[in-house]
Amino acid sequence: MEEEKKPRYMVQAINDEILGKLSLKNRYSFLNNNLMALLNQEQFNFLKKVEKFCMRFEKKNNITHGPEEDIYDWIPAFGKEGYISRTEPFEMIDVNYEPSGAAIDFMRNLALEFFDPQFAMGGGATVLAINPIKEHHENIPVRLDALKDLVTGQAPGCICITEPERGSDAVHQLTTCEEQPDGSFILNGDKIYNTNAPKSKWAVAYATAEANNGNTMAQFLINTSWDGWICERVGIPWVPKLYLGKETFRNLRVPKEYVLGGVGKGRDHLFEGLVPERIGIAIMSICECWNAITHAAIYANNRKQFDKMILLFQGVGFTLTDLWAKTTNLTLGLLKFCESYDEKMEKFGGVLPKNIAQALVASASMLKYHTTSLSKEICYESANLMGGAGLCDNTLMNDLLNISRIQEIVGGSRQIQQYIMSMALRQLYKMSGI
Ligand SMILES: Cc1cc2nc3c(=O)[nH]c(=O)nc-3n(C[C@H](O)[C@H](O)[C@H](O)COP(=O)(O)OP(=O)(O)OC[C@H]3O[C@@H](n4cnc5c(N)ncnc54)[C@H](O)[C@@H]3O)c2cc1C
Repeated sequence: MEEEKKPRYMVQAINDEILGKLSLKNRYSFLNNNLMALLNQEQFNFLKKVEKFCMRFEKKNNITHGPEEDIYDWIPAFGKEGYISRTEPFEMIDVNYEPSGAAIDFMRNLALEFFDPQFAMGGGATVLAINPIKEHHENIPVRLDALKDLVTGQAPGCICITEPERGSDAVHQLTTCEEQPDGSFILNGDKIYNTNAPKSKWAVAYATAEANNGNTMAQFLINTSWDGWICERVGIPWVPKLYLGKETFRNLRVPKEYVLGGVGKGRDHLFEGLVPERIGIAIMSICECWNAITHAAIYANNRKQFDKMILLFQGVGFTLTDLWAKTTNLTLGLLKFCESYDEKMEKFGGVLPKNIAQALVASASMLKYHTTSLSKEICYESANLMGGAGLCDNTLMNDLLNISRIQEIVGGSRQIQQYIMSMALRQLYKMSGI
């Protein structure tokens, strides 16, 4: 008996039977059968646990993923379960999540991505605010309070790096920070494209003591209710449910306890955040691939044309296997990266030696580069295999098609990843003593 699904669309284009087969439960089942042999028991059990929560949540709240739903309403429920971030136990705020780590967070992402891709991406942006506070809270109560709000889903967060005139060149920022005698700072300038910003209580932002001088960068935690935080929503039609912001900081005063990194420390803090950010985007992208392939696989096994299921036509079946093989192989690469990252973090007590951290920069760029490119291909090709059903509004394929086109830009564009990789390649050549 297939689950009954309330429509999320204008007109039902796909027949009842196939639409029922595309349920969250069935898509999880296909995913689990694919991953069962690749995951260890702890990873697999955690994946199933989050999946169970998502299925119940969807059913209990009659979620259709239709245009009228506000994905930000769902954050507190996921936060209560500890499903905003699982990268670590968060002992400093007494939540002590177990299991945790990069590989476990990958599992969390898989379950959330299948549930709702835009919701998963919004959560990823909150994690970008969580990471720097986690690294630089120094046990200061206001910082720990902010961290707790974000990790437990009390409030979404955002990170403000990009400016209208400084995107890829994120080191030469124009937003200024002026230190006051009491140790507070006054910020002035503009930021843009900051995911979640209009809905956020907490923002982590960068500014410079001298505009355009990366050596004078500093990092701040901002409560968006403070005077001088002015935020307008920027429309990104490919993710219509996400709220992105354009902010003006007008004499925004940041008290001393909220300065996460003083003048001169901002650039290091910025770079430190880029490896987890890129791995997060890589994970999100590969999860989009799985969601798209799962839709296409279910559809191709049920849709008939010329009196035959379309999977049996080589044009469909062989295309699908090509997408499937690429996604499985890159999943294995990403999983291996996450597992060795977790092992090293454990071995070195959470602080990686500089040479290992350096090597991870190149790996993170490679994975981000490769998975975002793949996601764009897989989501498009999977939709294509579903014909009109892949393009209409009856399934999440429309969301996947659109969101997969964004990932190459966020967190450093494709060309910037290539630039980073080419510098890393040069570095490795020099280290090889040839
Ligand atoms: C949906 C979405 C969410 C985002 N979320 C956030 C967020 O939460 N926080 C945040 O701070 N920012 C965020 N961003 C901003 C994002 O990181 C920037 O858009 C991105 O870094 C590119 O900057 P830009 O848009 O100014 O493009 P530009 O830097 O102007 O780039 C334009 C083009 O030039 C290319 N280019 C630039 N420099 C070089 C170079 N040296 N070599 C080769 N090619 C180059 C780029 O690859 C690109 O193709 C988001 C953006 C989007 C679209």
